[in-house]
Amino acid sequence: MTPEETTERTDFIRDIIREDNQSGKFSGRVHTRFPPEPNGYLHIGHAKSITLNFGIAEDFSGKCNLRFDDTNPTKEEVEYVDSIKADVRWLGYDWEEREFYASDYFELLYQYALKLIRKGKAYVDDLTADQIREYRGTLTQAGKESPYRERPVEENLDLFERMRAGEFPEGSRVLRAKIDMASGNLNMRDPVLYRILHESHHRTGDAWCIYPMYDFAHGQCDSIEGITHSICTLEFQDHRPLYDWFLDELEIYHSQQIEFARLNLTYTVLSKRKLLRLVQEGHVAGWNDPRMPTLSGLRRRGYTQRAIRDFCDRIGVAKNDSIVDIALLEYCIRQDLNQHAQRVMGVLRPLKVVIDNYPEGQVEEMQAINNPEDPAMGTRQVPFSRVLYIESDDFREEPPPKYFRLAPGREVRLRYAYFVRCTGLVKDEKTGEVVEIHCTYDPATRGGDAPDGRKVKATLHWVSAQHAIPIEVRLYDRLFQRENPDEAEEGADFLSNLNPNSLETLANCYVEPSLAGARPGSRYQFERQGYFCVDPDSSNGKLVFNRTVGLKDSWAKIEKAAQGE
Ligand code: ATP
Ligand code: MG
Repeated sequence: MTPEETTERTDFIRDIIREDNQSGKFSGRVHTRFPPEPNGYLHIGHAKSITLNFGIAEDFSGKCNLRFDDTNPTKEEVEYVDSIKADVRWLGYDWEEREFYASDYFELLYQYALKLIRKGKAYVDDLTADQIREYRGTLTQAGKESPYRERPVEENLDLFERMRAGEFPEGSRVLRAKIDMASGNLNMRDPVLYRILHESHHRTGDAWCIYPMYDFAHGQCDSIEGITHSICTLEFQDHRPLYDWFLDELEIYHSQQIEFARLNLTYTVLSKRKLLRLVQEGHVAGWNDPRMPTLSGLRRRGYTQRAIRDFCDRIGVAKNDSIVDIALLEYCIRQDLNQHAQRVMGVLRPLKVVIDNYPEGQVEEMQAINNPEDPAMGTRQVPFSRVLYIESDDFREEPPPKYFRLAPGREVRLRYAYFVRCTGLVKDEKTGEVVEIHCTYDPATRGGDAPDGRKVKATLHWVSAQHAIPIEVRLYDRLFQRENPDEAEEGADFLSNLNPNSLETLANCYVEPSLAGARPGSRYQFERQGYFCVDPDSSNGKLVFNRTVGLKDSWAKIEKAAQGE
């Protein structure tokens, strides 16, 4: 690719990289990484980081590593590592052979720590965790130096080696950097580098009982891997001086850290700690519950990787925090499925219709268009017969003004079939509910037009009762009722904003027979209803469909309003 061809996407990070390439800062090399901590499943915020890091590598003919920042054995699991790899692959990115782990560098990081001790830049501290916090001071008050701060180098080396050898209980000692307890930046007040944890690690097993802190690992891992541009979110801006201090004192290769604003979405939480609570406390069915903002949840809901990458492109990269309207994400999937999803007819809340003048036992195959946006997707046959189901909402015994669908005496079109006129109805004697309606059809209107030119004001979808496949449908709504779920009453937290109606299950729905044998993950538009995706809970006996998103586009309205319409 020539540089001219790479100017398609621009943002302040790509601008920095172009400048670096021009000045020769990294000899024109571009090497990024996506560094998840394997303590949860990836979410849509991570997708932003993934598309940014892998996208930059693609745009500049560089490389992007997948690196697991696995420095905390108490929260990390192989299950998370596996799910993260599957999700990055699903988004369409390839880290080739460059799958790394911070734990691969534990020995090297330990050597780095020894180097700092020998330089008199690190010491073993016997203060308790509480005391360390107390001594740290506040934003307005300088910290206090630990009484162990001036330990001689030899004593520090001896104690640190014995920490590694497992001689001391958890919490009894830590290794700290010796920087400046009066620094205006709290991160520089002698941060902890190593703590004792008698825990097995998912990769190193019991080889270690001291583990580096994230801050002591992250920058050095970037350095070891020769990362040129270390892209992270804004909260690490205040850590940058510390990372620089480590690299300078260790006299090792320097990556350039660049911070950008993390993605926030309305009606959504994107903190792994909070997502874990939703899972552990049973508010959702798991990390891949279709209401979760995780990539596995979105995938199960019916989102495509194309839609998610499109979303990330549209939101771009900014230096300031902002909140993205979730309607934009919904817009992206709607756009994609409108292009690619096959149309079918499905009835969610069925109402039985009998066409009294249609011959008993007769079946006609009606030709239906698979996707008006893509003629190449062709047509299919849909059986029509005397007894059908329509959407119960498409009939009103007493139609309100502007209701143009079926009502007693009124004629409507059945999609791809005939005009039918309502001639009667049957009610449940006890409840008064309409349970069946009767119609007559006009055989001259086959295909959907009347030779005499008369018009109808509504076209309804339908399925033939005798041919329909019974299915279960799961309708999802937002998981949280508040735009900002963290805005809770005194004494309550984000859980108090959960939407009690975020899942509605409809057990008795019907779809046309062409869906027999539909595989989990297949996506369809149910005409007039929305987009639906076959859930893995489907068994041979019964298909289960998740509603991905409805047809109504609230984003278009938002955009129009923003343009001052
Ligand atoms: P959390 O704060 O929820 O635990 P995290 O940032 O600690 O998330 P990591 O596994 O460390 O999660 O994230 C891996 C990468 O993804 C990091 O580079 C991080 O900056 C980025 N990332 C995480 N959340 C977002 C987000 N909402 N928007 C953009 N990037 C994100
Ligand atoms: Mg993190």
